[in-house]
Amino acid sequence: MAKKDYYELLGVDRNADKKEIKKAYRKLAKKYHPDVSDHPNAEEKFKEVAEAYEVLSDKEKRARYDQFGHAGVDQDGGFGQGGFSGQGGFGGFDDIFDMFFGGGRGRSRKNAPRKGADLKYNLTVEFEEAVFGAEKEITIPRTEECSSCNGSGAQSSEDVESCAKCNGTGEIKFKQNTPFGQMVQTSTCDRCNGTGKFINNPCSDCNGQGEVKKRRKVTVNIPAGVNDGSRLRMSGEGESGKNGGPNGDLYIVINVKPHKIFERKGDEIICEVPISFVQATLGDEIKVPTLDGRVKFEIPEGTQPETSFRLKGKGVPHLNRRGRGDQHIKVKVVIPEQLDRDQKELLQKFADMSGEEINPEQKGFLQKIKDAFGM
Ligand SMILES: [Zn+2]
Ligand SMILES: [Zn+2]
Repeated sequence: MAKKDYYELLGVDRNADKKEIKKAYRKLAKKYHPDVSDHPNAEEKFKEVAEAYEVLSDKEKRARYDQFGHAGVDQDGGFGQGGFSGQGGFGGFDDIFDMFFGGGRGRSRKNAPRKGADLKYNLTVEFEEAVFGAEKEITIPRTEECSSCNGSGAQSSEDVESCAKCNGTGEIKFKQNTPFGQMVQTSTCDRCNGTGKFINNPCSDCNGQGEVKKRRKVTVNIPAGVNDGSRLRMSGEGESGKNGGPNGDLYIVINVKPHKIFERKGDEIICEVPISFVQATLGDEIKVPTLDGRVKFEIPEGTQPETSFRLKGKGVPHLNRRGRGDQHIKVKVVIPEQLDRDQKELLQKFADMSGEEINPEQKGFLQKIKDAFGM
């Protein structure tokens, strides 16, 4: 399902300032809060609004959203600047509940298997690498399960016990008076951080976190035909899952460097080739650059400036299907800026033979001089 525009969701203008956004969000959050709203899709609506607020209230995320849309901010925090970015999922969501209602919902999910966060990596490649494909090695910092404790965070399995404060549930319930009446609130147990477990002897390799930051080398196979902005998904190469959940995915976003002489439009290659006006007039066999090296090409007699010729199959290989695009040779007829006397004479002769009257002004002037001296 296509995601809704965040500005539309909050009902604010694209230029709305922080205050307006906050005001719009508070109003909608009250309206759709699942505990008080009669709206049939209250929870869904509430989440949408919260998500929109999370992005638009954050200067950086908002900028990314403005530039890239949902792709710029989805899940892992979206596109970074220096190649790498991305971290823990839907981070701000619980915070929004906290801000409003002083307690969390669904905290017990902390123990449930969770998929690791997706990561994004901006990879810049040469023009030819995008055309013909390449193998690149990249290094990504990511969180992995600690191998010393297998993710438990404890020195040994005897060091893990059920949390006494919450009886291993990870939650603490309490009643609270709110403007909407008395509500039973649940908050995360502060002793065990909602895990329901308490560790007496934390693992020294990960400080009891159960995970460690690692720089991991990943080989990326760039398929022939990718273009600027192409996204490659590497399944399971994102952050490691929690509580036995699957790993996240790694998304490689391809940036293609421009080429000195080739311009790419989809799978077509456009290349400007300069020829002299004599070549254009008489025709010639020339060599033109292609992605596969120089090839012979016959310029026909009487070629007009800006004429485009097609070299079949000399373009970019189609991604995920057979065949290649074409190359287009755009002829640029170069007019000489300086000619010596003999060359000029020849052209003058050519013009005379063609019945063309050339340079009447200058001729007139010379003629006048000749006349004045009686020559
Ligand atoms: Zn550990
Ligand atoms: Zn606890």
